[in-house]
Amino acid sequence: MHGKRAVIVGGSVGGLFAGNFLVRRGWEVDILEVAPENLASRGQGIARHAELEELLDQLDVPRGMSGGIDVTGRTAFDRTGAIISTFELDQQLCAWNQVYLSLFERFPRQHYHGAHVFSGFETSSEKTTVHTTNGRSFEADVVIGADGFRSGVRQIVAPDIQPEYAGYVAWRGVSQEANLSETFRRNIFSHYAFLFMSGSQLIGYPIDGADGSQDPGERRYTYLWYHPASDALLADILTDASGKTYEYGIPPHLMRPEHVETVRENARQQMPENFHEAVMRADSTTVQPIYDVDNDHIAFGNVALIGDAAFVARPHVGVGVLKAGQDALALADALAECDSIPEAMSRYESERLPAGKRAVEHARNLGAFIQRRLDSPMDDPSLNLPPERVIRVSGRPVEHMIEQGL
Ligand SMILES: Cc1cc2nc3c(=O)[nH]c(=O)nc-3n(C[C@H](O)[C@H](O)[C@H](O)COP(=O)(O)OP(=O)(O)OC[C@H]3O[C@@H](n4cnc5c(N)ncnc54)[C@H](O)[C@@H]3O)c2cc1C
Repeated sequence: MHGKRAVIVGGSVGGLFAGNFLVRRGWEVDILEVAPENLASRGQGIARHAELEELLDQLDVPRGMSGGIDVTGRTAFDRTGAIISTFELDQQLCAWNQVYLSLFERFPRQHYHGAHVFSGFETSSEKTTVHTTNGRSFEADVVIGADGFRSGVRQIVAPDIQPEYAGYVAWRGVSQEANLSETFRRNIFSHYAFLFMSGSQLIGYPIDGADGSQDPGERRYTYLWYHPASDALLADILTDASGKTYEYGIPPHLMRPEHVETVRENARQQMPENFHEAVMRADSTTVQPIYDVDNDHIAFGNVALIGDAAFVARPHVGVGVLKAGQDALALADALAECDSIPEAMSRYESERLPAGKRAVEHARNLGAFIQRRLDSPMDDPSLNLPPERVIRVSGRPVEHMIEQGL
């Protein structure tokens, strides 16, 4: 199927992985992306699993060139700030935009169409025409929905699948290392930290500086604080000062200051003194409502869903970027190696559907205690989540746990 055309909706990591893999397999590819500029100024942190490095190797991204801070393990802290468990595991943590940029720089610029909002497609005699709201049309043999958890492509091919709110949010922020106290830098900064509080959990870790620097003093610290929020509170958080509600996520600069102040006040009251700096000294505060997207199909005729358009596993599992890349590679390989598009789509779905379902299920279990308003995951022994296990099984591909019998 060399020389066929793909149109990819969504130009974030999933779309760029797919675009790069397909171009290298002889396909002509156009990527359509809402954002007018590239996304490099956005994003916070991710874990760089070995499997992610292998995907980047395939695109000739030199190891070490796209950033990353090495940590040697995970540490569980209780609500007083005392260390209650540690687990040795070499890992690299990096800024999201370092991975994004490696992918963006490799994709042919003239085929990356910023400010192009997908509006629909129609298919006749095996060709599909994809439309954007600015009146352009793109011909495709295959359409790839890499347009994230609210996917417009998915709304057409699988309209019954909707994101389900999990009853809690992740407050997020990034601090400059230089703005953190000496105590924080000495006791917390270098840990991949899990802080267990009453009914909530904070994950924090170091990432590269905004310019990609890994030098002490120039790095940053990112946190995610999982915290319950009722439907009514979420709606209020997502409503700006003019009364406009952003259903799935409010731009940080439009969040009403009283919500930021509440998060800070909660941090002051609920976190040990040194930890609350992660929240208090962050450059900005963002909110990510936690959703699940589960699915029974990810291929529909000549349309495939990848990344968050296909499945959304809550961030506890830490595989969003990796899963998008693995979906993209499986799809590109299937399209390169099969004799027909239907055969390739069927192979793609059978390879990646189980992985997506496993990730969603594992992530649901990790967040269940917050969703159910339990004080601690240990309140329900059937969850099997004492802190020493949480730090082993969070932030890792489910396959690691299966291999290690965890
Ligand atoms: C700017 C940004 C920053 C992020 N930062 C982090 C982070 O720090 N840590 C982390 O773990 N995850 C982060 N994520 C999420 C992470 O990228 C995803 O969870 C995961 O990698 C799956 O990627 P994806 O490409 O499938 O979906 P996404 O990354 O969500 O990308 C979907 C893309 O589709 C575009 N899109 C949506 N609708 C349309 C449309 N109608 N027409 C055209 N384009 C459309 C969106 O603008 C977006 O760029 C970030 C995502 C974005 C977009």
